Amino acid sequence: MACIGIAGAGLLGRLLAWHLGREHAVTVFDPASGPQARSDGQGAAAFTAAGMLSPLAELDNSGPAIAALGWRSMGLWQEITRALAQPGTAAGELLRMRGSLLVAHGSDLGAAQRVLARLAQAPSLAGVSREPQPLDRAALAALEPALDARLHAWLLPGEGQILPLQVLPALCAAAGPVRWRWGCTVAAVRPGRIELDDGSAQHFDLAIDVRGTGARPDLPVRGVRGEVLWLHAPGVTLQRPVRLLHPRHRVYIVPRPCGHIVIGASEIESEDRSPVSLRSAVELMAAAHSVLPELAEARIAHLETNLRPALPDNEPRIDHATGLLRINGLYRHGWLLAPALVQDALAQAGLAAPASEITHAY
Ligand SMILES: Cc1cc2nc3c(=O)[nH]c(=O)nc-3n(C[C@H](O)[C@H](O)[C@H](O)COP(=O)(O)OP(=O)(O)OC[C@H]3O[C@@H](n4cnc5c(N)ncnc54)[C@H](O)[C@@H]3O)c2cc1C
Repeated sequence: MACIGIAGAGLLGRLLAWHLGREHAVTVFDPASGPQARSDGQGAAAFTAAGMLSPLAELDNSGPAIAALGWRSMGLWQEITRALAQPGTAAGELLRMRGSLLVAHGSDLGAAQRVLARLAQAPSLAGVSREPQPLDRAALAALEPALDARLHAWLLPGEGQILPLQVLPALCAAAGPVRWRWGCTVAAVRPGRIELDDGSAQHFDLAIDVRGTGARPDLPVRGVRGEVLWLHAPGVTLQRPVRLLHPRHRVYIVPRPCGHIVIGASEIESEDRSPVSLRSAVELMAAAHSVLPELAEARIAHLETNLRPALPDNEPRIDHATGLLRINGLYRHGWLLAPALVQDALAQAGLAAPASEITHAY
């Protein structure tokens, strides 16, 4: 049994605690007041995330290595959420694997086809092609009757969504006898040592730094502002995430439990956590309404801003040295990448077996 300290109880911190908490003596430090979900945008980016698991669609913003990590994570999320589901809780309340849709208005078809061409170049994995499947009007209406029937649409089978506000507390609850040190800000993470901002330090066999944007100056991480809107639209049925392919805006619409729909997200090179701007709100809402006209009577429930932790190359990074492990740079696809990155990081630290060959075919 190793003595392990984890700085940060966001997505990575909770996932690590869940993996390690039953076999090792684990202590987790975070400035938050407790494990509960928060919507003030001041805590983990993981709470604000839309939770889309989109290895294929994310190829528009990243390379094939990210997609490969993402496909591996999809299989791991299925195992993790099955394990997290309590008696009486369907695993489907944590993870939904119904594919996702790309849609475009007729006037934007040229821009959409450029994106689709990029996605089509993605290497197949385990011999399985994951190309977007064009849908005709009848097929679109059968899948998502609430969407504007004039849209061009493509199904991305195998993509899915996770429900962050359900999964994050569930990871804490199922992590076993972990010592959660809420209200503790970590000033520095050194090999075998975590230093708190009150000047005290605690010693561990392994100190893990997963503070996201809080890991500066130990890592050159920056925050990338993202804004989302929560709508309450109980009459509007949407089964899966929808992305609008648009030459100027990247907008997605993601269904959540209890009649809620999340619309996101801006991506702004700024660490400003102040409330959502009028411009972002107008653009997000106008784009969403153009795709899903039934949203006209939706109620605006909540607006939220948070920062995605990104490294200079926008790639995720694992650093391991004796007594020290750092994982950061999950940027705009942390939920997509976290399980595979955690698996690789724990293997590097000698705490888990290396990832085996992927055999899943979604
Ligand atoms: C608007 C938005 C939409 C997104 N949508 C998606 C999506 O659809 N799909 C997807 O895959 N990803 C998405 N993401 C990205 C994803 O949320 C992040 O990549 C992921 O949360 C990063 O995980 P992390 O554990 O590194 O950081 P975080 O989740 O931010 O957690 C960091 C933790 O460290 C703690 N911390 C900070 N400083 C300190 C300190 N000094 N001491 C101790 N603890 C500290 C924080 O309180 C926090 O709990 C989105 C992000 C945003 C903002």
